[in-house]
Amino acid sequence: MEQKIKNTIDNLKKNNFDVKYFENSKDAVQEILLEIHTEDVVGIGGSMTIKELQLDALLKERGNTVHWHWLEKTPEDMNKARQFAAQSDVYLTSTNALTQDGKLVNTDGTGNRVAAMFYGPKKTIVVCGVNKLAEDVDSALERIEMNAYKNARRLKLSTPCAINESCTDCSSPQRMCNITTIIRKKPMQKEITVILINEELGF
Ligand code: SF4
Repeated sequence: MEQKIKNTIDNLKKNNFDVKYFENSKDAVQEILLEIHTEDVVGIGGSMTIKELQLDALLKERGNTVHWHWLEKTPEDMNKARQFAAQSDVYLTSTNALTQDGKLVNTDGTGNRVAAMFYGPKKTIVVCGVNKLAEDVDSALERIEMNAYKNARRLKLSTPCAINESCTDCSSPQRMCNITTIIRKKPMQKEITVILINEELGF
């Protein structure tokens, strides 16, 4: 195991997070399906990682109720899905960055994803590829800024980063970077399991 992966796992544990490491996403998906009970209501945050692993479909197929705004078509239904997701039993998401000193760093536009990560659902499962590892919080914030344009293009936003691939700390009405959170240690009254996978997932 690479030293940076080992450091990340050790420090996440020191920060009271539950951590599970997998060499491949196939094994990780099996574990996630075991961690979530079939009677659990599952909320999902905006996440390319979760989409790539098709966890929403796998959970629905076996009978879980899933609330994910990415599956909805209208703004009203998307909002309802965000609200139901915040009240689910388990919240499934990725993280924008995971630091080697064991912190979860995220930037959000609406805030539903980052809020549900630390408050609301009893348990959060964070699925993260090794491409999201960062040395420390400063590197994590840099990583988030450098990759933001990919989300802007995916969402077809008219932000400067969508055009220039770099951030101007814009005041665009469609700005995506409105809330940044650092989860330094496991919050009270919340279970957080980090599933770290030795693959590139999401961005
Ligand atoms: S602040 Fe604006 S330009 Fe910078 S990454 Fe966010 S949306 Fe793009």
